[in-house]
Amino acid sequence: MPPNEPCPHCGELVLDWHNEWYEAVQRRAIYSGQAAMDCPLCRRAVLFESRDLAAPPANAQAPVHQRSAVLAARWVPIREQACGNLTGYLASHPAGQQYGGYWPPTEVQQADQQVTKP
Ligand SMILES: [Zn+2]
Repeated sequence: MPPNEPCPHCGELVLDWHNEWYEAVQRRAIYSGQAAMDCPLCRRAVLFESRDLAAPPANAQAPVHQRSAVLAARWVPIREQACGNLTGYLASHPAGQQYGGYWPPTEVQQADQQVTKP
């Protein structure tokens, strides 16, 4: 997924679309244009089309997938160790801060707890 791509709806530059936070089956659907991501800032549907991001047509029926807090919580200690956990990544990393309102705080806490459990 291209980093630093603006959202076709709100025009905000999204530092990281974090497609790796989708379940594998959802990610495949997104890459093949059969499903849409949601923008972390305006939450509107965004299609990935031939390496570009596009707004779906008004009559689009493609499902819109949400990123998984648990997958994100597993990703942070591997890719952004300095942030510690998902809570830390959302609070302190510029790319993470764009997802600060994406999940309810309780969902983020539960995801972090789930990942730290043996
Ligand atoms: Zn947007």
